[in-house]
Amino acid sequence: MKRIIKLTTAIAMAVAALSSCCNKQEETKAKYVFLFIGDGMGATHVAAAESYLSYKAGKLGGEKLLMSTFPYYGTATSHSANYNVTCSSAAGTAIACGEKANNGTVGINKDSINVKSVTYCLQEEGYNIGIISSVPVNHATPASFYAHETNRGNYYSIASQIPDTDFEFFASAGFLDYKDKKGDKDPIDQVIESQGYTVCYGLEEFRKEAAGKEKVIFCQESNRQEDAENYVSDAKTSEDITLAQMVQLGIESLGDDEPFFIMCEGGTIDWAAHDNRTMSMITDVIDFDAAVKVAYEFYLQHKDETLIVVTADHETGGITLGCGHSGINWEKLEKQWIDSGKKNTLDYDGNRALNIECNIGWTTLGHTGGPVPVFAIGKGAEKFNGRIDNTDIKGKILGE
Ligand SMILES: [Zn+2]
Repeated sequence: MKRIIKLTTAIAMAVAALSSCCNKQEETKAKYVFLFIGDGMGATHVAAAESYLSYKAGKLGGEKLLMSTFPYYGTATSHSANYNVTCSSAAGTAIACGEKANNGTVGINKDSINVKSVTYCLQEEGYNIGIISSVPVNHATPASFYAHETNRGNYYSIASQIPDTDFEFFASAGFLDYKDKKGDKDPIDQVIESQGYTVCYGLEEFRKEAAGKEKVIFCQESNRQEDAENYVSDAKTSEDITLAQMVQLGIESLGDDEPFFIMCEGGTIDWAAHDNRTMSMITDVIDFDAAVKVAYEFYLQHKDETLIVVTADHETGGITLGCGHSGINWEKLEKQWIDSGKKNTLDYDGNRALNIECNIGWTTLGHTGGPVPVFAIGKGAEKFNGRIDNTDIKGKILGE
């Protein structure tokens, strides 16, 4: 009898030790997690947007985006497994899965082994998952949070992995390769719907059809049942909703009864920067910050339980905030932007000439390999202070 009691006590102690270990992790992990990724958004993209806002306020500097007011600030190294300069899928995989990947691959490490995204780790612990992007849902960054693919360009195959995720909420521009590259496969939204998801185009349809559904996908109305090619910010139509509205939809859909993780990508920042379109890029950074604000307002209501991290996958364009000594000509940049209906109507040479004339330096049409900013606020935010590597982000979100 005594032995049995002893054994029972030993088991009870072991269970207590185990649960206290789990509790410890619970204590350090936020119930609600927002991870914002500004694609291509280096520190200077943020600074350029703030310089423009300062100009609008009649000052040389001093205006801040919301993300810049967060109390914890660090930088993350961004190189991939095989290059100094990463691509979005390798960086997305590093951030989501905590392992370096070769450029061009999604959710696979350098040894070609599938790696597990933070989304799946959290899902196992009861978190609801939301994936949001201003670009298509099967593009590199969002894909890194749910798919495994040797070639990031296999968009149809990436999207066809969505039903297996069981994630509750997706919102994006829509789908690339809607009927695959040859156009001979079933429309991808029908394939996904046949496996338990509700796919909605536009806000009106979403309000009508998504209510009460467990797994929903929002796509921009302008990309209804076709390739979502018009996802550069300048091509947005009036019927498209903003990234901030997508985050709001995500919060509404997931609710706050259960824990959630939302990844939100500002994908158009990268596209504008690839073309060195200064004002388009700045507008995209400001839109991205407005999306961060929606999460921040949620944080204010759930301060002790919410973590917001804002970072980038890499820098795009090698932008400098001014070049030469005569200052940035915001007036001219803005005038061209407004006169053209807030769309970039210039070709490569036109943009190049305007940038030079206005003293904005761009060094490349590609990505660069410098570290990217990390802004954080809320529960566990202090872990993102200082210099980290992009592969550290997953563990920090998991409370490790
Ligand atoms: Zn890019």
